[in-house]
Amino acid sequence: MSDRRIRSVVIVGGGTAGWMAAAALSKSLAGMGVRLQLIESARIDPIGVGEATIPPIMDFIRQLGIDESDLVQEIKATYKLGIGYREWTRDGHFYFHPFGPAGPGMGNIPFQAYWLKMLLQGKAERLEEYSIQAMAALRGRFARPVHAPNTPLNKLTYALHFDAGHFARYLRGYAEARGVLRTEGHVRHVSVRGADGFVEALTLESGESISADLFIDCSGFQGLLIEGALHTGYQDWSRWLPCDRAMIVHSERSAPPNPYTLVTARAAGWQWQIPLQHRDGNGYIYGGEFSGEDAAGELLLRNLSGRALSEPVALRFRPGRRKAAWNRNVVALGLAAGFLEPLEATSIHLIQRGIAMLLRFFPDRDFAAADVDRYNRTLEADFSGVRDFLLMHYSQTERTGPFWQHCRGMPLTDSLREKIELFRSHGRILREEAELFPVLSWLAVMVGQNIIPRRYDPLVDGLDAQRVQSRLEELRAAVRDCVEAMPPHWNFIQRTTGERAPAAHVT
Ligand SMILES: Cc1cc2nc3c(=O)[nH]c(=O)nc-3n(C[C@H](O)[C@H](O)[C@H](O)COP(=O)(O)OP(=O)(O)OC[C@H]3O[C@@H](n4cnc5c(N)ncnc54)[C@H](O)[C@@H]3O)c2cc1C
Repeated sequence: MSDRRIRSVVIVGGGTAGWMAAAALSKSLAGMGVRLQLIESARIDPIGVGEATIPPIMDFIRQLGIDESDLVQEIKATYKLGIGYREWTRDGHFYFHPFGPAGPGMGNIPFQAYWLKMLLQGKAERLEEYSIQAMAALRGRFARPVHAPNTPLNKLTYALHFDAGHFARYLRGYAEARGVLRTEGHVRHVSVRGADGFVEALTLESGESISADLFIDCSGFQGLLIEGALHTGYQDWSRWLPCDRAMIVHSERSAPPNPYTLVTARAAGWQWQIPLQHRDGNGYIYGGEFSGEDAAGELLLRNLSGRALSEPVALRFRPGRRKAAWNRNVVALGLAAGFLEPLEATSIHLIQRGIAMLLRFFPDRDFAAADVDRYNRTLEADFSGVRDFLLMHYSQTERTGPFWQHCRGMPLTDSLREKIELFRSHGRILREEAELFPVLSWLAVMVGQNIIPRRYDPLVDGLDAQRVQSRLEELRAAVRDCVEAMPPHWNFIQRTTGERAPAAHVT
């Protein structure tokens, strides 16, 4: 049998996607004799906007064997326990989307079923009261999980806020130390083999030609290989995702960083505030049909909590995804594979999923169709799941004005319609296998946006009502006690990284 192993991999692009791929492959393919090379152009800056992540990023960091405190210190990261949605449902309203599992079940009855029964009867508090992530975030507290069986501290779930550019640089150091060869150069031409349409080689502006068995396209929105050379095609999802513009600016921090992302609904979209150790990241994501660039920039600058550190930067994107993220011998990751929008901070996660699935279906030089097809179906399901979750945010609000009216008129996907109907009928949350967002996420956002079930799950009536009431009270008290025992978020960062905290206090 001839040796069909992959001998060389070339990654095009040195943004977050490129260096995440380089780091992960350098670790997972170590000892296999695969030559790993990354090419990045000095002429095209990475987007480097990604600032918020979701909990699976912590697995990525751990799997690489990176020390979390070292990373947090080096890239000036803060911790994230969820997202606060201000004015999203209607003016003056606030709800929190916490990370983590829902509360404990009672026998076969899941937490949401018995909590919803009590809520509908006016005997339960807001969901936030039963979530350690939500309560800790809103009190500005943070700790890592500790082994404390049967307490909410056991299950503390968190992610990071960071500057994606710093993260990429950190991973570059990691990858280069493990043998990844970095070439600075601008790819001018991509050669495709006549016989089978596989990418054969890249030609740099210097004239150097670089060939490989497998190419990973991390070249950003343009998709230099996946689209430019292979013409894979793009699914435009703007009928479900109303935003296609961004205005971004960094600002001085006016208070210690909160351990959550703050999202505020605005006239033509929404604004984020992401606290890092040294600054806040801010952005306004909006629909280009509903606001001009100048107005968007002014709105963003008017609504900063600290002094702007530069002029706002404008970006445009087309929400959607590449029809196939893996085509022939090219796998696209990051913006080259697609971009939905950053409301739930899923882009870096989709890079991570793309890498994990590539390793799961790592090819040989025959590129078996079964592997490629399965990879593409998995990634399509991931993107679609995120799209549905985002669409729910936009379609289910009571906000007024042309942008939000447009959002309410957007068609629901069949999968989302079913999800909402199941919830409305008896508060049931259907979750597909491998679906990204856990039950608590759906519950928090649906209830937060006033999707209230007509009836509760009848099986809850099999539970003694008094026991249910006591269980909820115990859970709420346990959450409160645990949060009380947690240090302020900024103190936690100081203690683990040695940074100096500013004088102001989080209230
Ligand atoms: C407004 C906005 C907000 C976002 N917020 C978040 C968030 O909060 N959380 C999140 O998870 N994600 C977020 N994202 C997404 C996140 O920024 C990206 O997923 C991530 O940065 C990955 O980008 P990338 O590496 O795919 O592409 P890029 O950063 O664009 O990098 C492309 C690379 O390709 C190289 N390149 C391009 N052409 C050539 C060439 N011809 N030759 C050689 N090299 C070339 C460039 O030099 C660069 O190194 C956001 C994105 C946007 C637009």
